[in-house]
Amino acid sequence: MAAWTTRFAPSPTGALHLGNARTLGLAWWWARAEGAGVVLRIEDLDHPRKKAGAIEQLREDLAWLGLDYDRETPIQTSRLERHLAALDALVALGLVYGCACSRKDLEEAQSAPHEIGDEPPYPGTCRGRFATPRDAALATGRPAALRFLAAPGVERFDDLLAGPQEIDPALHGGDFVVGRLDVDGARRPAYQLAVVVDDADDGVDRVIRGADLLRSAARQRRLQRALGLPPTTYAHAPLVVGRDGRRLAKRHGDTRLASLRARGISAQAVWDWIARSCGAAPAAPADLVRRGFRPDAVPREPATPPEAWAEPPQRGL
Ligand code: GLU
Repeated sequence: MAAWTTRFAPSPTGALHLGNARTLGLAWWWARAEGAGVVLRIEDLDHPRKKAGAIEQLREDLAWLGLDYDRETPIQTSRLERHLAALDALVALGLVYGCACSRKDLEEAQSAPHEIGDEPPYPGTCRGRFATPRDAALATGRPAALRFLAAPGVERFDDLLAGPQEIDPALHGGDFVVGRLDVDGARRPAYQLAVVVDDADDGVDRVIRGADLLRSAARQRRLQRALGLPPTTYAHAPLVVGRDGRRLAKRHGDTRLASLRARGISAQAVWDWIARSCGAAPAAPADLVRRGFRPDAVPREPATPPEAWAEPPQRGL
């Protein structure tokens, strides 16, 4: 039996870039060094941002870097029934309510200054306002958001890369969206809910991903408890940022793996950078695995890609 199981959970919203490669590479290296399992789950819930051909591109990029996995689990949108059963359970427990706030309502309510990079808490406008979630949709004739009540309270957990955490979901984002309900009664799950249901179904007990989702871990722990799902451990890898210290994005140039490949940069060169960014001497992936993965060697600070790899920023992006 595997020591533990993690997952690659890419969204098919575009090609993998160096930021993704670093997190996926780190997860693979750690898992393979400790005899742990890796599952691939394509997270395609985010319909509007889905790009044609992105799934094939993902597979190609993973293969190019040598990131193999033990099995692929059903694509996220094929598990609708499981997600909706969880959503119904939360509604039945009285932990989810319908929210009729428009984007504009939320922007107006949230104009107060807040910590940079932090989400201002939802002000709770619709908490207790409607008898049923459906009433929220009928009140405006628009789809209602289904929000999970984030009661005040600190979530404490030891992140295997980011260290000890104390996060109060009520202060960071507040009542969060777990689904949508259309006026005709159709429901759709949202990321926070789908991910905890899928991790439990896939036997994932260690979530390794980028630090942009650190606060979400506190929300997901709440959902796991409410649904009676086994808790997972977390390892949030520091983000990859550009020279300006901002999260790696198109403005920093084209760091998509497919573009680097087309420019003659080898997979081993990418691995050399991944190894260094994790505080290790560069080596072939198999040798990295043989030497073992040391979470304590991974710097807590964000990583930056080699300057020579960033092409001039793309204009207008
Ligand atoms: N599918 C998400 C993404 O690509 C990852 C979610 C997760 O790791 O929990 O950003």
